[in-house]
Amino acid sequence: MGAPVQVVWLKRDLRVRDHRPLVKACEVAAHGGPPIVPLYVFEPSYWAVREHSAPQLAFIVECLDALREELRARGGDLFVRVGELPEVFEALHRERPFARLLSHRETGARVTFDRDQRVEAWCEARNVPWEESDQTGVVRRLASRDGWAARWTKRMRRPLLPAPEHVPVPGDVDGGRLPTADALGVTPRTLVERQPGGEREGLATLKSFLRVRGANYRADMSTPNAGWTGCSRLSPYLAFGAVSMKRVHQEAERRQQALKRKQRDGRLDDARWLASVASFRSRLSWHCHFMQKLEDEPALEFQNMNRAFDGLREDAHDEATRRARLEAWRAGRTGYPLVDACMRCVAATGWLNFRMRAMVVAFASYQLWLHWREPAVHLAGCFLDYEPGIHFSQMQMQSGTTGINALRIYSPIKQTRDNDPEGAFIHRWVPELRALPAAHLDKPWETPPLLQRQLGVVIGADYPAPLVEHASAYREAKQKMLAARRRLEARAASENVMRRHGSRKRPRRF
Ligand SMILES: Cc1cc2nc3c(=O)[nH]c(=O)nc-3n(C[C@H](O)[C@H](O)[C@H](O)COP(=O)(O)OP(=O)(O)OC[C@H]3O[C@@H](n4cnc5c(N)ncnc54)[C@H](O)[C@@H]3O)c2cc1C
Repeated sequence: MGAPVQVVWLKRDLRVRDHRPLVKACEVAAHGGPPIVPLYVFEPSYWAVREHSAPQLAFIVECLDALREELRARGGDLFVRVGELPEVFEALHRERPFARLLSHRETGARVTFDRDQRVEAWCEARNVPWEESDQTGVVRRLASRDGWAARWTKRMRRPLLPAPEHVPVPGDVDGGRLPTADALGVTPRTLVERQPGGEREGLATLKSFLRVRGANYRADMSTPNAGWTGCSRLSPYLAFGAVSMKRVHQEAERRQQALKRKQRDGRLDDARWLASVASFRSRLSWHCHFMQKLEDEPALEFQNMNRAFDGLREDAHDEATRRARLEAWRAGRTGYPLVDACMRCVAATGWLNFRMRAMVVAFASYQLWLHWREPAVHLAGCFLDYEPGIHFSQMQMQSGTTGINALRIYSPIKQTRDNDPEGAFIHRWVPELRALPAAHLDKPWETPPLLQRQLGVVIGADYPAPLVEHASAYREAKQKMLAARRRLEARAASENVMRRHGSRKRPRRF
């Protein structure tokens, strides 16, 4: 058995800047303490979960490549292992005993929560102190939501930690090799225009958003066209911790203060910036607000947040209808062009703006009347930025199973007119409709049959006829939801949910 080491366990925190566990370990090492093993573990059980995908893996690998470079520039290195936990720790511990284990606290799905519990038991059994640091505004074992927003702001204003200057690592521990998708049993898949992983990429994305791209954010964020460059596109960097939420918050706050100063001095060239940065800052607080819900109630990954909605959708269709609807939605073949364009876009690129994510989920939940769980798994596997805490809470909110949020049943017809009036997005992602002029893209089935034949776009042959009729499906869903919400149990349970999860700052507005 060799000399002890400090293990910095890297999870969703793939950076060197503003990394408390790394800084803490380096401080101890600088005072004669043990060297550091910055360790990332690829767990086959994590990669076997359907929500995790080859593009997410590729993004993580790029983040790790970048991290290795940063660590080497500081005299350190990155250590990689493939295997389950705590077995990987046990093997390393036998080689070099852990003086302590340091990591960020993770708000994850069941698979990582269970893993963390096994690690905790292992640490206890081996007498290894495990020091966890917070990296978001999420609070573990939160007793009440009262005062949460103030606490979030306080955490976000803590000073940023510079990257350590020197990271001493043991010279005789094998660095390990980054695995391929195949080796982890992940189905290979590549994305179009995927965002590259890495801390510097994340920092550059933040800078370009706050300085150049974000001027029209407030308007751009609703449309899938302008949103592509007008949204911050920080989500995968935040999800895998390539940039810290604290840094994003502080830079946005600094930018806002600078803009206000310019406005006061009459030097503000583009007034749109002020509203855009304010809007961006409020979204940043939503990030942790939604993650806190899963932290407080891990069961909402699998079951309705408000149990009064149990049974509403589960057995609504026979199995063949349920499967056909789910498959058409997943494949982007519902007959509603904007829904189909979104589903194809997210599968191909890994990203969609918030409004379109909300619309496709609402369409599956209301018009198609499907339970949210299968759509949630499918979308998680599509999103490059899959973040369980945001994802499952949003899925429940957009399908109306919280009981505390306003019912939002989007009309894909209206959304087409509002957010893709020229049809650019639909034409890109639904090529079989390219010959159809924009004026017909909201309701292609109403295009006169002669014109359909002349254009070579026959609805029902070249492109599906609508899977359900929007107006009647909308009415039916609304009636069912309102009836469910009227039920006494729903009201009682809603109060319960509101107490546990509601935003105290601005109740009922998300
Ligand atoms: C059904 C559904 C599922 C979602 N799943 C995820 C997910 O798995 N991972 C994820 O990061 N976001 C998720 N979102 C939230 C949101 O759509 C994305 O964060 C956003 O589209 C990412 O693009 P952006 O970074 O350019 O966002 P911007 O609009 O630039 O926002 C900046 C950041 O604020 C946070 N944010 C923005 N909107 C929200 C929101 N509504 N709720 C919580 N945080 C928000 C994100 O961290 C985002 O990166 C989901 C939304 C819905 C409706």
